[in-house]
Amino acid sequence: MPDLIFASRNNGKIKEVKDILSVTGLKIISLLDLNDDEDIIEDGITFEENAVKKAAHVFNKYKIPVIADDSGLVVDQLNGQPGVHSARYSGPNATDELNNQKLITELTLLPEPHHAKYVCSAVFFNGENYLTSEGEEKGIIILDAKGSNGFGYDPFFIPENYSVTMAELDPSEKNKISHRAKAFNKLKEQLSALTI
Ligand code: IMP
Repeated sequence: MPDLIFASRNNGKIKEVKDILSVTGLKIISLLDLNDDEDIIEDGITFEENAVKKAAHVFNKYKIPVIADDSGLVVDQLNGQPGVHSARYSGPNATDELNNQKLITELTLLPEPHHAKYVCSAVFFNGENYLTSEGEEKGIIILDAKGSNGFGYDPFFIPENYSVTMAELDPSEKNKISHRAKAFNKLKEQLSALTI
């Protein structure tokens, strides 16, 4: 019996979150492990709203404590887009490649630098208590992809105080600075004060 379900089917995120929480010793499984391919509707207008929805939905289904997150890229010059629509930015058949193409098309004619931030809202729900936390990583978007680590918009995102993209960073380095690392590290502190 697992201690926690991570309500995600995104391999990139699952790996990152399992790494971050590995020190807790908790047994964490994901929706991939459960062969669960039900689409949970993410129609909230904030990251937190979507993360809470995912956590509640999955808890009600399995009655096992859940952690969930919602995350995305917020670009200043695009009035905060893709934001909560990051995963489906290019439409219903979105892939990372199509999303990145759309992002670069939108930014090509706008003046540099293209300021952006990654945001992650992380939530824990055990049927009684909700714990929530948020993390951000600021940076800029470049128009030519660099690097092959990470996922999503990483080849185009240079974190603040770095000269390489998130996709050029070693995964262990990304896990020290990322929005998800910040959100889940805060959640980890809160979890340690709660008996799950
Ligand atoms: P979610 O699964 O609804 O949280 O959607 C997250 C989407 O935001 C992903 O599909 C990516 O497009 C983008 N995203 C979130 N975190 C990252 C990251 O660490 N790197 C690159 N893209 C990310």
